Amino acid sequence: MGSDAKDLVKHTKLFIDGRFVDAVSGKTFPTFNPSNSECIAQVAEGDAADVDLAVRAAREAFDHGPWPRLAAAERGRILYKFADVIEEHLDELATLETLNNGMLIDLSKGIIAGSVASLRYNAGWADKLNGKTLRTDSTRMCYTLLEPIGVVGAIVPWNFPAHMFLNKVGSALTCGNTIVVKVAEQTPLTGLLLASLSQEAGIPAGVLNVIPGYGPTAGAAISKHMSVDKVTFTGSTEVGRMIMESAARSNLKPVTLELGGKSPFIICEDADLDSAVAVSQNAIFMHQGQVCVAASRVFVHESIHDEFIKRSVKLASERVIGDPFQSGVQNGPQINQEQLDKVLSYIESGKKEGASLLVGGKRIGDKGFYIQPTIFGDVKQSMKIANEEIFGPVLSVLKFKTLDEAVELANSTHYGLAAAVFSKNIDTVNLLTRSIKSGVVYVNSYLRAGPTVPFGGYKMSGIGRENGYEGLLPYLQHKSILMPLENSPW
Ligand code: NAD
Repeated sequence: MGSDAKDLVKHTKLFIDGRFVDAVSGKTFPTFNPSNSECIAQVAEGDAADVDLAVRAAREAFDHGPWPRLAAAERGRILYKFADVIEEHLDELATLETLNNGMLIDLSKGIIAGSVASLRYNAGWADKLNGKTLRTDSTRMCYTLLEPIGVVGAIVPWNFPAHMFLNKVGSALTCGNTIVVKVAEQTPLTGLLLASLSQEAGIPAGVLNVIPGYGPTAGAAISKHMSVDKVTFTGSTEVGRMIMESAARSNLKPVTLELGGKSPFIICEDADLDSAVAVSQNAIFMHQGQVCVAASRVFVHESIHDEFIKRSVKLASERVIGDPFQSGVQNGPQINQEQLDKVLSYIESGKKEGASLLVGGKRIGDKGFYIQPTIFGDVKQSMKIANEEIFGPVLSVLKFKTLDEAVELANSTHYGLAAAVFSKNIDTVNLLTRSIKSGVVYVNSYLRAGPTVPFGGYKMSGIGRENGYEGLLPYLQHKSILMPLENSPW
């Protein structure tokens, strides 16, 4: 497959007001295939001037266009149609995603199918988002209206490009907003293809605009734009902080932040060890560890610790690494040289700080960005590898004696995105699930949630929730209308 897939690249320009256009500056930037480091295409490089044009188009579409004024069921119908069109192009989208991101082809297909389900879930809410009728005093009544918030700015990362794009677009558009999406500079291609499919589905010009470009230029222009009414961001905690600062300094726009994690995976002494070992492998090594909820810290009860290590090291050493288009491959490449170097430097720091490198630890080959699945034992919670998000295939294993100790260790990072608890004892499960400070806790499982389940972080893993009914609320304004009430029999 690999390089033939270059023929799939049909769109490389910015998508503004329903048209594919060059950047105002005329600049372009290269986008690469992580599995062989080759350039796939030159893509138009949007910056502040292009963001401004896109925001103006989105503003016009919101203030004067049909989208927010359509009957809600009609908006839902168009979004269902968008989901159908995406499904018809699923193979093409998944191939492009794998080409540009290095994600295993089956994973690309599964994730995009999940995004289609999520789009349909949101579309179903379009005509079911209602306010309330409230009692006040005997002379007045109040009803609340849920109104779209306006122009949404979305800034997305490279790890699940189409999924992040569709999650944010689906929620924002369901509620009647218009949107400008800045796709990640590493992976601009599927967002542009989705923009063209949105036209096929009948989404009007100006409602969805897509800007490929860099963070400090195009991204920053969105977060500080005075005419953007809300920003939704998925990415690193460091950049999330900058976005919140510039949202506050400009027009105090509300922000939704989905940020990093250092998720704990707790295996108790009574756990099903076969299952815990298998699930934890996937929880850290899936997509080469480039997953916000990657379970990068495993806490194992001391009585089963050595057996867990033995089995995990064996499985990790047997993982098949290679071309993400090839069937049977379990790990593809990291996204780029910068991430590869970052992951390797964390591995060096683990060795220097005295953790035991049990398996992996090295780059594979010199073409593409492949790293061996890596496991460290004898890790202390104070070490860098146990505290900082590595975003690569590196697992830290720590031992615990008591449940209190497990809770304290699990909660001792600035993050709080996800966690897992493996135990057959319901009291242990209840104690741990309620004591861990994270937005999601999986019991005897990991990684499956779906569009109905609210998702987001505690602490420095984020602000707000995506998915479910709760994920739509940040895209709506709540207006309270107070009416006089005279001679009412009730
Ligand atoms: P990143 O923060 O470097 O970049 C994310 C996006 O922000 C990109 O589009 C980038 O161009 C843009 N950006 C960078 N600097 C900016 C600035 N100054 N102003 C505005 N925008 C700017 O993150 P990444 O490396 O692309 O993605 C990995 C990170 O994303 C990890 O920390 C991961 O945990 C996190 N993530 C979180 C979730 C979640 O749902 N919580 C999901 C996926 C990824």
